[in-house]
Amino acid sequence: MLDQLYRQLVVDHSKNRRNHKKLNGEFVKQLHYKNPTCGDVMTLFLKLTETKEIEDISFIGEGCSISMASASIMTELVKGVSLKEAVKLRQAMEAMIRNGEVSEEVDLGDAIALEGVHKLRARHNCALMAWQALDRAVGDESEYENSN
Ligand code: ZN
Repeated sequence: MLDQLYRQLVVDHSKNRRNHKKLNGEFVKQLHYKNPTCGDVMTLFLKLTETKEIEDISFIGEGCSISMASASIMTELVKGVSLKEAVKLRQAMEAMIRNGEVSEEVDLGDAIALEGVHKLRARHNCALMAWQALDRAVGDESEYENSN
């Protein structure tokens, strides 16, 4: 039953992708990213506030349903949060996908629907692609580095 619910969430996010659009403007960071193990591709758009919060985030891309659902969920999770919180979310996500550990401190929201991907080793990079793209896009921000 829970599996069924989770599957529906993933299908919904992959079909009705949240924040699936380009962002324009002078202060928008753009990053292309691909997952060679599956052929998933995406471009991440990111706008930070002066106080290093994620003011807006979006993506465009094509790929398997796991990668697109994960990207959709990620944009919802990190929009409006500080880079410090974004690191915590990414670390919790990686622990869940790579190690099967579900964090009790960090609320992963709909991303919990991807928990079962842990058992599918070949799909780990699909579920983490968007988070790795985010990591790449903000990795040079000191607020982000310091919180590691
Ligand atoms: Zn994939």
